[in-house]
Amino acid sequence: MCGIVGYIGYEQAGPFLLDGLEKLEYRGYDSAGVCLNDGKELVVKKAKGKLKVLKELTDNGRKLDGTVGIGHTRWATHGEPSDVNAHPHLSESGRFAVVHNGIIENYQQLKDYLTSKGVVFRSMTDTEVIVQLIEYYYKGNLIDAVIKMLEKLEGSYALGVISRENPDEIIAVRKESPLIIGLGENENFIASDVTAILSKTRKIYRLENNEIAVLNRENVKIINTDKEEIRKDTETVNWDINAAEKGGYEHFMFKEIMEQPKAIRDTISPRIKNGRVVLDDISLTAEQLKRFTKINIIACGSAYHVGVVAKYIFEKMLRIPVETDLASEFRYRDPIINDKVLTIVISQSGETADTKEAMKEAQRRGSHVISVVNVVGSAIAVESDEVIYTWAGPEISVATTKAYSTQLAVIYLMALYFGDMLGTIVADEYKALVGELEQLPERIENILQHKEKIQYLASKYFNSRDIFFIGRNIDYALSLEGSLKLKEISYIHSEAYAAGELKHGTISLIESGTPVIAIATHEELIGKIVSNIEEVKTRGAQVMCIACDNHPEMENIGQTIYIPKVCDMLLPSLTVIPLQLFAYYVASLKGCDIDKPRNLAKSVTVE
Ligand code: GLU
Repeated sequence: MCGIVGYIGYEQAGPFLLDGLEKLEYRGYDSAGVCLNDGKELVVKKAKGKLKVLKELTDNGRKLDGTVGIGHTRWATHGEPSDVNAHPHLSESGRFAVVHNGIIENYQQLKDYLTSKGVVFRSMTDTEVIVQLIEYYYKGNLIDAVIKMLEKLEGSYALGVISRENPDEIIAVRKESPLIIGLGENENFIASDVTAILSKTRKIYRLENNEIAVLNRENVKIINTDKEEIRKDTETVNWDINAAEKGGYEHFMFKEIMEQPKAIRDTISPRIKNGRVVLDDISLTAEQLKRFTKINIIACGSAYHVGVVAKYIFEKMLRIPVETDLASEFRYRDPIINDKVLTIVISQSGETADTKEAMKEAQRRGSHVISVVNVVGSAIAVESDEVIYTWAGPEISVATTKAYSTQLAVIYLMALYFGDMLGTIVADEYKALVGELEQLPERIENILQHKEKIQYLASKYFNSRDIFFIGRNIDYALSLEGSLKLKEISYIHSEAYAAGELKHGTISLIESGTPVIAIATHEELIGKIVSNIEEVKTRGAQVMCIACDNHPEMENIGQTIYIPKVCDMLLPSLTVIPLQLFAYYVASLKGCDIDKPRNLAKSVTVE
């Protein structure tokens, strides 16, 4: 999820590797490391924390001998951020070194297998199985060993591999995680993105899934897993460093919106095995679960909106009463909470002060706490009783998109897992939901491909002074998020209302031309929301709808963006995409500082 860089040439590799890692710093990381072949050994230097530590350790790379090496900035997914867990990882004998971005889904199985064969592991990472497998399969040819290892791997990865015996080669391969190859004169490079190599070359290959690159000093060969050579065209990158950091997009927020299919895939696919949701992260037994009489969800901001969605889903699927609370309110209202209440706290950073303190309050009162967190080893992750990580990768834009989406994905996983344990969900429904959940990333990709219509609608609304969002049931929860997204980045005043509540007062704010965005995806309530839309239209509102594609008649009601019809539980993940894009395009047309909206911080560590 973070950064890989590699060098093979005739110059000292160390300074370039450190410089390349610095260029990748923007991606976010918790530790960094390098490994060079000094002609005799593979020498590893790595350290938890900022790159500064590694720079001091190696005198900016100058203390490191060797003209071939790999470097890494890590964003922990498996194993806390620490010196030992930082990459590169060495095989047991020290003959091979690997850097990895991504997640190995079947690492436990592979680790158990290798351990039974006597292999001794040093770290808690999923990554280490890769390098141990290479050594296990090595019979004199590194490419053969890498190919054999790849046959066993499930998950996402970008890899750089070097060996002690062959100082003239780097092997690189990827699946679902980015990796490019930079082509120089008598030197070649690997990197997670072009920023790391722009100072050296603009000529690159973009590796596709399962392509293997074999780099020497003079040339680069791309092969497939049958060792057949693949002819690839080189690409010349014209981006400046600034654009390159954002993958060619103008803003991190947009990049992160586009990354959502992958982020959701990374979050769900390791947890679905043979058609069943398996939450290894949770130790609660069915007996313990059955003792809970209530679920309390505590969060702030967008994570709170995930909690509002979760209330609808959990109550429907688990038949347990759910209360969703703002962390800053929960603490000070003497909540009725005890060991019969299961508490779920949600936080991207895992450091949100209000959420952390509310969690402690719940724990003091005897509640069992499960956290849903993106940053491994963060305070909430460590201090909660159990943690389910969202594997969204680092999120840079202040306005959350992919963290929100992966939090939703975790809610679905929990609903299915707990529903199964409690027996509140029937086998057929379970099977159908798991099947649809697995298709979710593709469905989102599909919506993202049709973003122009949303851009067009944004161009009609961006001059508005106030925008209202209305919806019922889960669509109401999505209205809250759509409205927040819009106001936090575009500074347009906006309100979200449960559609049935409008007539109890706020409808007086609707006047000729007031934009209203109506979310109408919930099948059972289509008739009701259509009536609410008519109410606002009668008062002059200009209506835009988000509806499922099985309701083409919505076009007669307002300008409509369609999302694919899926089961109710999963609709929020689709509905939120046009809402995010709408907010983004509006803010972009207004020329706002989208990634860093005024007065906001990414991680709110004050109460
Ligand atoms: N899953 C690996 C780890 O936790 C790689 C993380 C990354 O992409 O930085 O070490």
